[in-house]
Amino acid sequence: MTDCVFCKIVAGEVPATKVYEDEASIAFMDIGQVNPGHVLVAVKAHAEDVYALDDAQAAAVARGVARLARAIRAAFAPEGLSVYQANGRAAGQTVFHYHVHLVPRNLNDAMSFTWPVQNPPRETLEAHAQRIRAAL
Ligand SMILES: [Zn+2]
Repeated sequence: MTDCVFCKIVAGEVPATKVYEDEASIAFMDIGQVNPGHVLVAVKAHAEDVYALDDAQAAAVARGVARLARAIRAAFAPEGLSVYQANGRAAGQTVFHYHVHLVPRNLNDAMSFTWPVQNPPRETLEAHAQRIRAAL
């Protein structure tokens, strides 16, 4: 834990530009600003990834994301907002402390997704969905 920069931010040992805080989560801007207004929401207690979150932490992050999304919209008026998180080394993470990014976006930004995407057959998707439902 002592090597975790996010835990140090929570403890006040590393300065950070905080924009939001509640009992279980904290939001700050000390990250590469993909676009102005880019905010990161992290759980306060050290949890390495989404699998480690308890329900209270998950609820706090979701609440923080919704509140910050409204605030970012009011402050920066982006055309949209990307909300994402990534887990583990395969996702290119270097800090293993659960967090979510809120990135204000505009239509001419480089990253884009097309719809509809090329999907596997519906029966394949349904089989995958059933495996997830069975695991819930
Ligand atoms: Zn940590």
